[in-house]
Amino acid sequence: MILVGKILAFLSIVKNITKTLWKSLLNFVYPPNCILCHERLNGSAKFLCSICENSLQRLQPSFISINESGLLRQSQHWFDASLAVFQYDGKVQHLVHLFKYRNTPQLALFFGKAIGRAIIDSAAMPPIDVLVPVPLHSSRYRERGYNQSALLAHEIAHHTGIPVREMLKRHIRTKQQASKDRYERMKNVSGAFSLIDGLTTEHVSIGLVDDVVTTGSTMNECARVLRAAGARRIIAISVTRIDKDVD
Ligand SMILES: [Zn+2]
Repeated sequence: MILVGKILAFLSIVKNITKTLWKSLLNFVYPPNCILCHERLNGSAKFLCSICENSLQRLQPSFISINESGLLRQSQHWFDASLAVFQYDGKVQHLVHLFKYRNTPQLALFFGKAIGRAIIDSAAMPPIDVLVPVPLHSSRYRERGYNQSALLAHEIAHHTGIPVREMLKRHIRTKQQASKDRYERMKNVSGAFSLIDGLTTEHVSIGLVDDVVTTGSTMNECARVLRAAGARRIIAISVTRIDKDVD
């Protein structure tokens, strides 16, 4: 059995190497195209051409307190502020959709770098001890093959030096939030998360990472669990945020 296991592990390594080599060869023969306009990429651009990248509208400021945002206006909130980089327009919506639902985990490199830069550049952003990604339910993780929030958190860590700890578990498989209104979203995620890793005194200021903040209900439920465990400050960190009240 051990031998079979070793052979399978070896075959899996060979398969991965072959896949990587094949991809490199393809990239050499056919350089990748811009993920938005599909023009051929040149130079050091990896996902977006410079025209598309420059056309993405940035949120100014990227960091705002919860009271300055339109989030959770009529309900109790458990996080203090939000840092998000891009305005939620059609292009960003499309990119996030690719990232989340169209097997494009490599977009974490682009988004994570942009968020990391915003954290470093924001004078208002308080110090963060640890980055905690919003978890996926294990069955959704198996379907998707990756947790986009965890990939983002690790990429942000790469640019900021802030460590990542996956402290939360989603033990209820919630329905997709996209078509729900604010009240339904809150009900949908209520009680869905629990703590799997305790907070230490070094981890009282938390950057909670998710791809999008829509009404804030998912972030809020995660923040509630972290707050109960002793977190003193929680900043919701995301690629984009819908600033107006969408309901
Ligand atoms: Zn382009």
